Amino acid sequence: MPIDATLPYDDGNIFAKILRGEIPNKTVYEDEFALAFHDINPQAPVHILVIPKGRYVSWDDFSAHAPDAEIAGFVRAIGKVARDNDLVEPGYRLLANIGGHGHQEVPHLHVHLFGGRPLGPMLS
Ligand code: IMP
Repeated sequence: MPIDATLPYDDGNIFAKILRGEIPNKTVYEDEFALAFHDINPQAPVHILVIPKGRYVSWDDFSAHAPDAEIAGFVRAIGKVARDNDLVEPGYRLLANIGGHGHQEVPHLHVHLFGGRPLGPMLS
């Protein structure tokens, strides 16, 4: 079910558990600001989720409240994951679902990174 992105951060969400090491994940990259791991239900040959380490519900929460260093670190981490996975050429897609109409299901900001095949004009 999509979430209400205006709700306070829920420390019981599944990505919070992954960050605390309570649930296994297939990590592809980690630094001070971000963790990247394979999506459990991939929609493309490459489907990686990149999440900030801070407690942010959504892109709205993050962009409004995160310190500049965390925003810069997160954005740079996403770019590095794409480069490390040889996606810059032929290309890839970034997607962040926000709130109900965005069909966000996990209430911890995550950016989907899709690649590995031509993706068409837009994923549904
Ligand atoms: P959303 O709709 O943007 O919130 O997408 C949530 C994504 O998290 C979906 O693509 C799920 O497949 C993915 N997901 C949910 N639980 C896990 C997990 O434990 N590990 C990796 N990916 C997960």
